[in-house]
Amino acid sequence: MEKEDFADHSDSSASPRLGSNSDRSAPNLKPNSSEDRVGAATAKAGPMPRLSDVLLSQLQSQLGELKDQGVRVRMFQRDDGLAILLEGARLCPRHQIIHSGTACPICQ
Ligand SMILES: [Zn+2]
Repeated sequence: MEKEDFADHSDSSASPRLGSNSDRSAPNLKPNSSEDRVGAATAKAGPMPRLSDVLLSQLQSQLGELKDQGVRVRMFQRDDGLAILLEGARLCPRHQIIHSGTACPICQ
């Protein structure tokens, strides 16, 4: 049996067939016209943003929501990338989940 033990069991919405849409020249990925997102991506009408940029902007908005929840988010621009420090957040080594507080919600 070739079942992968490292499969991510936390995403219920991910499509199992990744990469099958790379052969389309005009993907139909236009985001929903919600006007409340930060308009950095819409400032210049250039080529479509890459998926990685879309995901990064989603991460940025998630970080903003974390700030609203009291998690202090600090960012450090380095030569090799952007470091994000979430004060008070921890990664459970057993469950591989990021959580706030000292104890993992599954462990406790
Ligand atoms: Zn845990």
